[in-house]
Amino acid sequence: MAVFDQAPVADVMHKPSSHSEFSIIRRFFATSNLSFPREGIELAIGDDAALIEAPPNKLLAMSMDVLISGIHFPVDADPVLIANRALAVNLSDLAAMGAEPYCFTLGLVLPQPDEKWLANFSAGLEHLAKKYNCPLVGGDTNQGPMSISIQVQGLVDKNHSIRRSGAIVGDKIYVSGTLGDAAIALLALGLDSHLGNEFSFSASEPSPACLQFFKDAYFKPQPQIELALAAGKLFSSAIDISDGLQGDLQHILDESGVSGNINLSAIPYSKSAMCCLSPENRLLAALFGGDDYELCFTVAERNCVELESIARELGVSITCIGDIKAGEGIDYLSADGSAFEVAAQAFQHFCATT
Ligand code: ADP
Ligand code: MG
Repeated sequence: MAVFDQAPVADVMHKPSSHSEFSIIRRFFATSNLSFPREGIELAIGDDAALIEAPPNKLLAMSMDVLISGIHFPVDADPVLIANRALAVNLSDLAAMGAEPYCFTLGLVLPQPDEKWLANFSAGLEHLAKKYNCPLVGGDTNQGPMSISIQVQGLVDKNHSIRRSGAIVGDKIYVSGTLGDAAIALLALGLDSHLGNEFSFSASEPSPACLQFFKDAYFKPQPQIELALAAGKLFSSAIDISDGLQGDLQHILDESGVSGNINLSAIPYSKSAMCCLSPENRLLAALFGGDDYELCFTVAERNCVELESIARELGVSITCIGDIKAGEGIDYLSADGSAFEVAAQAFQHFCATT
């Protein structure tokens, strides 16, 4: 069995003994299911660096997310689910840029080298790595309080990257999927939510099926890669919704120098959210909850028919929730078209209760 140094985990970083580190890497990461070959990847795990020949006329899109135990996932969460989530949230960033997944690296910090945990964690990475032909090409392994850092690399045509800055007046604002489910999952998991004490289920106890639905939304976000690759050429701007619609849409508006109208009655909710939460709490979860990993994007009106037909063919649900205007900020409109005041702050990690 691979063993780390026996020194206690304290507030200093420990390096596992090289024997155990290499054994962990060989057994759980340099495997044919995770570190498989792909064109352009000349050298992957095993040397001081991976060697990659990016195709001509492509830009390399790089993005990294760090997940810390107790903050971004519950301490005792299933390692299969943690791994799936860690890779999915990174792939979601590639979707928002219109990039095809290419490969990824993994920085893993563990309190101790638990073989069962490592085997499950590795298995949890495999599904998405294979699905998107995105092999593991390197990383680093250390001993300390648990955290998982993944950096993904993607490829995007030089002329087709999607940026936050491209929205123009008259564009329609769309979101994929349904919003708020991952924030509601915190209630299902019995964890604290930054959305306040009033944020709760309306029924005394949601059905087991609803509870499972919310937990899956949290642990198994579906990166919208297929939608972005098939329809991204029609997007004028995009972002993935990781901190709630309000804050993330605001990034598009700021970068593009425009404002947006959102029709509150158009915001898409899941059936489970509809049956388990009051309208106020559903709205709170959609606007200020985190972790949806759906896309928010803008499209010129003339392209909306084509967009909707592509989404239908893919079986991906998308909803037009508003439009881009001149000016600043977001105006929320009720079903009758009257202005609706929404006062709160988008989720800020460092203010959140965990
Ligand atoms: P170095 O000390 O030269 O940085 P390491 O001993 O940390 O190299 O790693 C040896 C090899 O194993 C490298 O190719 C590195 O990319 C890979 N590696 C280390 N940890 C991981 C991991 N968690 N996942 C994937 N590859 C890893
Ligand atoms: Mg080295």
